[in-house]
Amino acid sequence: MQMIYYAHDDGLKHENPPGHPEQVARLEAVRAAMAGMDLDRRAAPLCDDQEILRCHPQTYLDRVIATSPREGWRSLDPDTSMSPGTLTAARRAVGGCVAAVDAVLGGESRTAFVGCRPPGHHAETATAMGFCLFGNIAIAAKRALDHHGLSRVAIVDFDVHHGNGTQDLLWDEARALFVSSHQMPLFPGSGHSREVGAHENVLNLPLDEGTGSAEMRRVYEDSAFPALREFAPELILVSAGFDAHRADPLAGLNWSTEDFGWITGRLCDLADDLCDGRIVSTLEGGYDLAALGASVAAHVKVLKERSG
Ligand SMILES: [Zn+2]
Repeated sequence: MQMIYYAHDDGLKHENPPGHPEQVARLEAVRAAMAGMDLDRRAAPLCDDQEILRCHPQTYLDRVIATSPREGWRSLDPDTSMSPGTLTAARRAVGGCVAAVDAVLGGESRTAFVGCRPPGHHAETATAMGFCLFGNIAIAAKRALDHHGLSRVAIVDFDVHHGNGTQDLLWDEARALFVSSHQMPLFPGSGHSREVGAHENVLNLPLDEGTGSAEMRRVYEDSAFPALREFAPELILVSAGFDAHRADPLAGLNWSTEDFGWITGRLCDLADDLCDGRIVSTLEGGYDLAALGASVAAHVKVLKERSG
């Protein structure tokens, strides 16, 4: 079986104002990085409203739809704007995650990567935030739990920013374990280790500015991986942000390109032991275009090797 890669040209039509770091060129860098790879390439489908409503209220979806502009930009939040193509791109980012869960749980591959934008892990229940409109990965978790009937799903978020949205959307979900490593202090300000979820189902691993390969690997080996092993998920979801890379302009961690390959391999090892190798990963941040392309390539190369 080949790793499934979900993407769509509509992701290029979500434009942010000039100078915004979450730019169309990010997706072009990701696509260039994957260009030569032999993958099971699929179009990320549009999601039904019903999928968004697994995590967000109708009033919020209505507000996003009402904000969608015919031209130019309209803001949902100081960092989060909509262009005419944003709503469709966001529906494909959710739809890609939902389809990836369906495909992996349906046995079509053991691994899948969703290379869509906008990202999702900062979107809270009724609040767009940090370039994110809908909680793509939390919706994927709910899809696995409520549609497929799984009992336990884990989400690992290694984006340099805390996944406050995923934490908010899954705070009271005992069937989901959310593990996030992130630089602290940094946007969005949450992610303290004392934030543990309503059912001790959240594990926050804040990292000091400057944290590099050795220390990040120690934190994952000592804290994240044992927690995942204990939880014994039936599916591992990944919020794959690449802005912990030392070259990233928005943050100050010192991860190398190889670290993204390392963490992917270790998560695949866990998935092999716990859940028949099943991993669905989705793109979150990463704002240095060269580092993003190289890091995505390192991540996907491992997912591809471990897909069969
Ligand atoms: Zn980020």
